[in-house]
Amino acid sequence: MQPLSCRSCGTCVLVKKNSPAHTQVQWTTDTDRCAELAQRPTADRATVLTCLRLRDSIEKAVRRGELRMDTS
Ligand SMILES: [Zn+2]
Repeated sequence: MQPLSCRSCGTCVLVKKNSPAHTQVQWTTDTDRCAELAQRPTADRATVLTCLRLRDSIEKAVRRGELRMDTS
């Protein structure tokens, strides 16, 4: 997994790209640190995983080749 931080809240997460459509995200801090996720009901957080900014950051990292695909 590779560390990546959210451009909006600065929260650092570990990201693993399994396939072009599959991204695994692991929070290293509480999701409360992210303003966008903190507004969501707790039940939602497990399924949402990332705020929009973070998702955008991940996509950009993939496009720039900074996030390697890990199929193992
Ligand atoms: Zn965020």
